[in-house]
Amino acid sequence: AIVKTETTDELINRGFDFFTKHFPDSEKPDRLGIGPGRVNLIGEHTDYNDGFVLPMALPMVTIMLGRANDTDTCRVVTACNDFQEIENSNKTEFKIPTVKPLYVGTPKWANYVKGVIACFQSIVVGFDAVILSSVPLGGGLSSSASLEVATYSFIEAITGNITIQLVHKAMVCQKAEHIFAGVPCGIMDQFISVMGIEGHALLIDCKSLNYDPVPLTESNYVFLITNSNVNHELSSSQYQLRRYQCEEASDLLNVPSLRSATMDNLSKVHSNGEINEITYKRARHVITEIERTKTAADVLKRGDYKTFGQLMNDSHNSLRDDFEVSCPELDQLVELARRVPGVLGSRMTGGGFGGCTVTLVDKTAINSVVNVINSEYKGNPKFYTVLPSCGAKIVKL
Ligand code: ADP
Ligand code: MG
Repeated sequence: AIVKTETTDELINRGFDFFTKHFPDSEKPDRLGIGPGRVNLIGEHTDYNDGFVLPMALPMVTIMLGRANDTDTCRVVTACNDFQEIENSNKTEFKIPTVKPLYVGTPKWANYVKGVIACFQSIVVGFDAVILSSVPLGGGLSSSASLEVATYSFIEAITGNITIQLVHKAMVCQKAEHIFAGVPCGIMDQFISVMGIEGHALLIDCKSLNYDPVPLTESNYVFLITNSNVNHELSSSQYQLRRYQCEEASDLLNVPSLRSATMDNLSKVHSNGEINEITYKRARHVITEIERTKTAADVLKRGDYKTFGQLMNDSHNSLRDDFEVSCPELDQLVELARRVPGVLGSRMTGGGFGGCTVTLVDKTAINSVVNVINSEYKGNPKFYTVLPSCGAKIVKL
């Protein structure tokens, strides 16, 4: 019942065969870029408010494997073929010089790749490459950032031009998603995919872009990810609306971002009737979530997993009631998990309106959680147990 995802080595092996199949006249691939997916443990919808987030990198990764082809053309194939787009849409071919910012085309997935190339710090040479991934697509585990970071790392390997400033690398990948995929995402996903540390979550300050590794050492507990396998259409329009509402609130409170607001200030404008109820609730989520995230990192450092679990529960309730980005499926998954003895906390993770939940659970209780959800949940859930893993890799084979 728990999905056993392909290891990175298995992906790479499959990648060599896949490459030979699609580029039979080429020599073997000699460069590899790897970017992991991520799960955010707490700190949701805080990144674009200059707040804190606490994600960890996943063992599930996207890889880009290939070699320079001595032309000015890139040919890229993804092994992932669940796209309802044009025929043969798992392949793309484009000339480097035409890849300029705001060049957006089909297939859609190729825009992530083109965006990273266009925003890269130096001239890129033509290459042939394949993409393979063990990150579920569109499931809220950030397959998009893992694709951008894998692409960037691959280009570093191809050009030999390695970026020393890792924050810069993450920002370029974010920019690619903004202007090529049209998704106005925060910095969290790219940051953790670049910077992840094995055995640790990272407390990221999305304002200063400093980070603090938080060891996850307690081996009796694991994080169980449950993919709801639903993805409601509203997610991108509601995401934009939430960003707007947060800006509205920070304007009203006269602060540069909700990071600098306090519950005292917010309560004051609320009792004076200067803020509408919806905007008030949105701001209350962000302000309390930023506090919870800082506290969560502190208690984790002390090994207090119980309190961490409670903070996860509070985070979910706030996202459900105040920020209103959950959905019945996520609420149900969380409710079911919380019923099981041995579960310390459970919450939705990612932007909301579908995607995944993350549950902190005693190892001995994993099967009970899976059984309860399987027997009660109406959808088609998928389960993953995950350990905090390392960030991007640049490999010369
Ligand atoms: P998430 O990042 O939560 O998985 P997104 O909607 O942000 O969901 O990103 C999913 C999109 O990223 C896909 O629709 C596709 O365009 C692109 N993508 C991610 N992984 C791959 C891959 N292995 N091959 C091709 N495209 C991918
Ligand atoms: Mg994404």
